[in-house]
Amino acid sequence: MAISNSTLSIALPFPTTPSSSSSSQSLKQQLLLAPSSLRPAAPITTSATSRRAVTPSGVAHDQTSELPDTTWDTLGINKPMSTDYMFVMKSSKDANFLDGGLQRFEKIEFNPAACVLNYGQGIIEELKAYKKPDGSILLFHLEEHGLRMRTGAERLCMPAPTVEQFVEGVKATVLANRRWVPPRSKGFLHIRPLLIGNGPVLSLTPAPEFTFLIYVSPMGNYFEGGLQPINLVVENEIHRAVRGGAGSVKAIGNYGAILKAQVDAKANGFSDVLYLDSVHNRYIEETSTANIFLVKDNVISTPALHEGTILPGITRNSVIEIARIEGYQVEERLVSFEELFEADEVFCTGNAVLTPVRSITYLDKRVSYLETGPGGVVSQELHRALSNIQMGLTEFGGTVTLK
Ligand SMILES: *Cc1c(COP(=O)(O)O)cnc(C)c1O
Repeated sequence: MAISNSTLSIALPFPTTPSSSSSSQSLKQQLLLAPSSLRPAAPITTSATSRRAVTPSGVAHDQTSELPDTTWDTLGINKPMSTDYMFVMKSSKDANFLDGGLQRFEKIEFNPAACVLNYGQGIIEELKAYKKPDGSILLFHLEEHGLRMRTGAERLCMPAPTVEQFVEGVKATVLANRRWVPPRSKGFLHIRPLLIGNGPVLSLTPAPEFTFLIYVSPMGNYFEGGLQPINLVVENEIHRAVRGGAGSVKAIGNYGAILKAQVDAKANGFSDVLYLDSVHNRYIEETSTANIFLVKDNVISTPALHEGTILPGITRNSVIEIARIEGYQVEERLVSFEELFEADEVFCTGNAVLTPVRSITYLDKRVSYLETGPGGVVSQELHRALSNIQMGLTEFGGTVTLK
């Protein structure tokens, strides 16, 4: 039946109590313990009324049946699927995001003069939801993602949803699409919040209307069996970000501008590009969509954020926190490309994943950290700690469980 005009209001707020935080000592023990002895994160139960509001009586639809198991075997990493619902809120230039909620997933229309299409006024976010064996769904650091979207919105002269609207919007969208969350062994639900200036303009000026939209799509695991080290190439000409630019926010324009470097790197057999700073062409910054870390003699170093050319990754933050709890010294500082050739291990972090680096090529020099195997000792240890949190085996601040 046609329900295209069915913007469904959702009952807010869901309970938002974060899981209780534990002391550093017990967290360290938990991070290192065998999975079976770990305490599960405190669940947050969404009330029946909230959930019913997503599919109110009177709206007949076919979005409740379980998906066939074979669905999960066709998931790609770059194959967006049309799921059941998306979340849409609108705002005018000087107002707040007031109207909106869940509606059926469908194509959206743009005026050809939409500011986002012509001048790139837009911000993305990216999160993941994982399914636990008991069927509950884990989400991480929702507030941080909401805050980061607000920082980006300010940089791009856009009104932004409040952190609470962001958090509740993500939860509602995930719950409404819960049948699309794959079993943990098959993948995860990719969550994409977008904030765009969709109103029409004829010259460079902020849009008169803005849309906050969240869509989701299931995604297959990047690599069967977890860790798959990558080969990076240092980009010597194209820069991802410049001082005073928008490299520290997830502005949509940042990504189109580095496609060229990315495509060329892939054509030459590399997994991704490592960018250098644009002033000295000497200090490493990050890859296309992930932060970078070096390990040398039990000290872990990562480029500092203060130049404003590096995206403050939420995974970066978690890994720094976990590494310190596990007793490593972590330094945030300038890291020159020369240090790549001295490091014991290198790994990247982004979108809740830690990926070991197998090799880095800079001009005609190549350094290999691993010939084979899943990654260095430190990378593997931190990866395991991060995965245990994501599987709900370790309690860690910022985890939210949807029942
Ligand atoms: C999203 C992104 C990251 C990683 O951020 P997370 O919050 O860890 O997912 C790193 N660098 C860039 C350029 C990004 O866009």
